[in-house]
Amino acid sequence: MKKAFSFIEISIVLVIIAIVVTISSQHYIKAKKNSQKTICIQNMSTLDIAIENHRMSGELPIIPGEVQYLGMYKDSISKYLNKNTFPICSEGGFYSIINGNVTCSIHGSWNTDNINSQDIDYGTDTEEIEKISIYK
Ligand SMILES: [Zn+2]
Repeated sequence: MKKAFSFIEISIVLVIIAIVVTISSQHYIKAKKNSQKTICIQNMSTLDIAIENHRMSGELPIIPGEVQYLGMYKDSISKYLNKNTFPICSEGGFYSIINGNVTCSIHGSWNTDNINSQDIDYGTDTEEIEKISIYK
């Protein structure tokens, strides 16, 4: 009677499965990081508008153009935010104002330069290139 599978056949199948799992998990991690960055950029955009609204209202305290930790002004800014909720960076970065721009300690400042910057790993797949075109 012949054995169902040889050791070599089973090994080859396991190696193939390992390769597929490795490749797909790298894509997942990359996609997750890109979406976290996108959310963070939206948070910074929202914060920027809320800060501008606070400044236009003339209320105190005045939020300066350089703030190391924006959370200090959480109470003043939150009333201009949806549901009075101060946004949080999903990767644990904190928000500051540098040169007048809302900036995340992990994702940098929010503006179009950031969105098109080279620190986003776009990969080479057509599927990913299609995703990128959403940003442009
Ligand atoms: Zn961030």
